[in-house]
Amino acid sequence: MSGVEEKEVIKGMLREPSAPEILKHRRRDAEFLGFLTRPGWRGELPYYRFKCTIHGYVENYPQGYDEALLCPHCD
Ligand SMILES: [Zn+2]
Repeated sequence: MSGVEEKEVIKGMLREPSAPEILKHRRRDAEFLGFLTRPGWRGELPYYRFKCTIHGYVENYPQGYDEALLCPHCD
């Protein structure tokens, strides 16, 4: 897709999770914020706030097979 601003911080809708969903998606290294959906997405992804050693607190969804949380500003 052309014209997409790649450095743009994640935009979308955040759905508040239910209590069981919070338990399921919580992780030690990040705060679970809810489920993110963006235009063009068919589903939703868990969305987290975590700390980047360079940028401080940032937000993103897990990526890759190992569900790594990567700072959106470091890439
Ligand atoms: Zn960073």
